[in-house]
Amino acid sequence: MTEARRPLPCPRCRTRAYTPYGVPWTRGMPARPAVSDTDGSTLICSECGNTEWWGEFFGVDLEPQEKWPIT
Ligand SMILES: [Zn+2]
Repeated sequence: MTEARRPLPCPRCRTRAYTPYGVPWTRGMPARPAVSDTDGSTLICSECGNTEWWGEFFGVDLEPQEKWPIT
C-alpha cells in the first residue's frame, strides 16, 4: 500500500484521475475512486467505474486489465 497524498492517475483510462480515500477532498479535485469489477480490488476513476457498471448491465464483457494502458 502506498500512502498517496494527492490524486492518482486511473490505471484503466490513464486520462483521468481519482482522489484516494484518506486524502482530503477539496473542490476541483477528481472524484473518489471506484473498485474495478475485474478483480474487486483495483481502484479506478469513477467514470471508468460507471463504464464497467453499464457494461455489465448490458452484458458487455469487462475490459480485461491486460488491455488497460498500465496495470
Ligand atoms: Zn479511468
